[in-house]
Amino acid sequence: MTSPEFVQISPAVRQFAERLHGLFIDGAQVSAHSKLRLEVFDPARGECLATTADADEQDVDAAVASARRAFDTRVWRGLRPADRERVLLRLADLLEAHAEEFAQLETLNQGKSINVSRGVEVGASVEYVRYMAGWATKLEGETLDVSIPVPPGTRYTAFTRKEPVGVVAGIVPWNFPLMIAIWKLVPALAAGCSIVIKPSPETPLTALRLAELATEAGVPPGVFNVVTGGTVCGAALAAHPGINKISFTGSTPTGKLVATAAVQNMTRFSLELGGKNPAVMLADVDVDQGVQGILLGGLFNQGQVCAAASRIYVHRSKYRQIADGLSDAVRSMTLGPGLDPAAEVNPLVSARHRDRVLQHIAQARADGLRFLTGGEPVEQPGYYVRPVVIADAPPDAAIVRDEVFGPVLVVMPFDDPLEAVRLANNSPYGLAASLWSNDMKAVLNLVPEMEAGTVWVNTHVPLDPGMPFGGFKQSGIGREFGRHAVEGFTETKSVCIAH
Ligand code: NAD
Repeated sequence: MTSPEFVQISPAVRQFAERLHGLFIDGAQVSAHSKLRLEVFDPARGECLATTADADEQDVDAAVASARRAFDTRVWRGLRPADRERVLLRLADLLEAHAEEFAQLETLNQGKSINVSRGVEVGASVEYVRYMAGWATKLEGETLDVSIPVPPGTRYTAFTRKEPVGVVAGIVPWNFPLMIAIWKLVPALAAGCSIVIKPSPETPLTALRLAELATEAGVPPGVFNVVTGGTVCGAALAAHPGINKISFTGSTPTGKLVATAAVQNMTRFSLELGGKNPAVMLADVDVDQGVQGILLGGLFNQGQVCAAASRIYVHRSKYRQIADGLSDAVRSMTLGPGLDPAAEVNPLVSARHRDRVLQHIAQARADGLRFLTGGEPVEQPGYYVRPVVIADAPPDAAIVRDEVFGPVLVVMPFDDPLEAVRLANNSPYGLAASLWSNDMKAVLNLVPEMEAGTVWVNTHVPLDPGMPFGGFKQSGIGREFGRHAVEGFTETKSVCIAH
């Protein structure tokens, strides 16, 4: 049964998906040198929806050469900052005007709820573009009082300039294909760089459409290129000597490959990687707020969120209530395609990822863990997994240690807050964490103890364009959002004048 609000895909979206997609280089769609094609699937039906080019090294060379030409000829970085800002604001307006088209295309390709596509993938992206556009006019250096003693009597004036780092490679995962592409594109452009974006092979469609919109907004040819492909294409970009900075979001193992390749050319890089994020609920946790917060913070986008809460540590006095609250709520969630706004459980992105998640669940069963709900097979086409709540898992269980990147919550009790912090930090990851309590003294004492790039309090998962986001430990290097994001696409130049 689907709801009356079930979204019918518009003919324009269908036509775009079915196009014979090439690459986007030098301001236009071009045929790829590679003759290999990649199938793109509709996760709700498990059917092929489109094909895209599987770009090879020559394709990557062409895209990097285009971005380099644009950089060297200063068609973008030579503009007045206010003019760059204006183009980016126009891009935000266009994205807003095409919001429904992008939302439908993303849900069709990624499988997520149309509500998430509309509100987050597109809605939050529009806000992000507007926020980041403003940084084009706000990059600034410093003046420095230097103490250079020679030659005697010489005075010096020194200052720093922030200059665009050059040609950027933006490598993007499949969980928020449009939004994460925008997180790379817009700060890079605000800083005056040119960029080659490589979307994930599973979800390439919105990035290809975004490149057309950016051109319409006034981004000059070559400043924003898109190459579609898989490992060959990604590895060629990461190792390309013509790239000055790699902004990568994806898994920790791939991130390490990217960093290793980058270092050979001294290419700058930032990595936003995996997470196994804890939520710690103290004795005074508001049970309803905690349950609702974890349903959102853990299962939003089917748990395919790098910052999703997946390890839930609850003070023993509230443990039963939280565990029961979560499993009751999860059991009643309705399952259906992302195009049905009433469906609360949507398919995972691909058959391969569904199988990976099911393997984690099977391992937890084989380990004899206690399942409160979920994990039963789903008898319908599409890549569905029923959300799972597991209780009482020991700290060394695979399901407690490994990133699942799917709808699996593990709830565990503790007696002492410092014990909870120790358990929470007992992970190679350190992307995000949350604390749940209204005892602000206790919370503020625990915040510095948490090994995580973001600590939320009484919420889990909201991001803001101005709030730095990134990981401790194996969750990454660098920060996105805010000043950090845009400055990550710059070099600092010192200028020292003797007078
Ligand atoms: P992935 O690492 O498999 O792929 C990420 C991107 O890298 C894809 O575009 C892929 O084609 C490309 N790639 C593959 N091999 C490459 C290589 N050798 N060199 C360069 N690029 C290569 O990740 P995924 O499965 O697409 O996404 C899921 C992972 O991403 C999860 O681990 C998740 O936690 C992480 N993620 C992190 C964040 C964050 O902000 N920290 C956000 C979203 C996703």
